[in-house]
Amino acid sequence: MKPLVAAFAAALCLLTVALPAQQSAALPYTVVTRDAKRPLAARTINGQEMFALDDLARLFNLSVREDAAAASLTISAGGQTVLLSTQQPLASVGGRMTSLPAAPAREGRTWYVPVDFVSRVLAAISATKIDLRKPSRLLLVGDVRMPRVAVRVEGLGAQSRVTLDVAPPTGHAVSQEPGRVVVRFEADALDAPDLRANTTTDLVTGVHLGDTAQSVAIDVTPRLGSFRATDQPGPAGATRIVIDLLPQTEAAPQTPQTPQPQQPARPQAPDTPPLLDLPPAGGLRTIVIDPGHGGDDSGARGTQGTLEKTVTLAVARRLKATIEARLGTRVLLTHDGDQTVGLDQRAAVANNNKADLFISLHASASVRPAVAGAQVFYLGLEGYGEAAQRAVQAPRDALPVLGGGTREIEIIPWEMAQARYIDQSAAFARAVEAALRDRVPMSPRALQQAPLRVLVGVNMPAVLVELGFLTNAQQEQQLLADDHQSVLAQALVDGIMRYRAGAGGTR
Ligand SMILES: [Zn+2]
Repeated sequence: MKPLVAAFAAALCLLTVALPAQQSAALPYTVVTRDAKRPLAARTINGQEMFALDDLARLFNLSVREDAAAASLTISAGGQTVLLSTQQPLASVGGRMTSLPAAPAREGRTWYVPVDFVSRVLAAISATKIDLRKPSRLLLVGDVRMPRVAVRVEGLGAQSRVTLDVAPPTGHAVSQEPGRVVVRFEADALDAPDLRANTTTDLVTGVHLGDTAQSVAIDVTPRLGSFRATDQPGPAGATRIVIDLLPQTEAAPQTPQTPQPQQPARPQAPDTPPLLDLPPAGGLRTIVIDPGHGGDDSGARGTQGTLEKTVTLAVARRLKATIEARLGTRVLLTHDGDQTVGLDQRAAVANNNKADLFISLHASASVRPAVAGAQVFYLGLEGYGEAAQRAVQAPRDALPVLGGGTREIEIIPWEMAQARYIDQSAAFARAVEAALRDRVPMSPRALQQAPLRVLVGVNMPAVLVELGFLTNAQQEQQLLADDHQSVLAQALVDGIMRYRAGAGGTR
């Protein structure tokens, strides 16, 4: 739709009292879409930063109609309509009043609206995502990944620490290159207008945007030996990336009294330091969540009829949303509906998508109603043959589990792709178990190895989590409850973060 504001403005110049406005040009904003950047003029009128309504109409395909008698502007976008008072700082969005910092102002034939009109009104009615960032004078339109990044540099004895706060949490990788440490983000660009080092240290001489618009470069001195990067929950939902830079001497960091002898630079290409057995650079690009069972296979059944497949799918969806919100990592489900999916097919979803982590969600059953608590499994290799033989002979539903109860999961040897990830899976399982233990009741045998068919073919660190026992009446209620499902999802994300931060390998 074409903007009609010019025609109405022309018709109304005689009717509208000229405003005794004090106005001046302000620094333009930058409109960022997935494909392009362009400036958007702003003016300061009576102390308020404003955009021309014409400009917004072109940008967001608005139609604007003025009703002078009602002292209002009717602004339509798609099927939505906003009524904006020309005399008061008020807009009606879908019948709900929204306040603005100032009433619209008219200059010549053009109406101006406060910049907050975009975030408070247009963002509410637009089908496209609109994100106005006043401090950095950005207007993001559509699916633009442009996290805000702030940095702090500290000297800690012989070490240095660079802390980056990133919001929203965005996938990233930290790597060491000649003369610098680079943090690359899975983003279109970075919103970091003030990015620079607040101080310099023995190891850090500066911080600035990298060669690409998606990276931050930390300039380092030749004394840098290695670094260690960890992610922590930051303030206000941000991710805090803590990069500890270590001098070349591997002396204990507590004894920096003697001057460090200068060692020759490492001859080999820059490499990530030994961060336990974590994935390279600590970057998690894709996580696959496997809601156990589905379709014809309902899994365990609670005493009140709750089906395991219902619980696992609900928690999986919640976990996906929680990971995406907190870590900014891509999450795939092996199935997102009530479908029958083979165990090998579940592993294939993870393998084909080159996932970095695999989490299979289940809920247990036991013949003893008192048995309760969450459990975390990773693949056990020892005794695999014996267990497999038992599985062949035993009915599928009757395999006994140490600590009580039964498992219904098929146990059959397969390609053993998981074999080379056992150590990492063990660290992942420890991290998840520790995180769950902080928040939910655990089984007496909370961390176990088992020859689980769904994990065998998975080509990445993988765990299977039994969220609780459906045959325990109290746990059955909990597993159905929104708040408990949220707690489980938060705990599992904590576990992922612990693993990524290396905490899983230190217990
Ligand atoms: Zn199950």
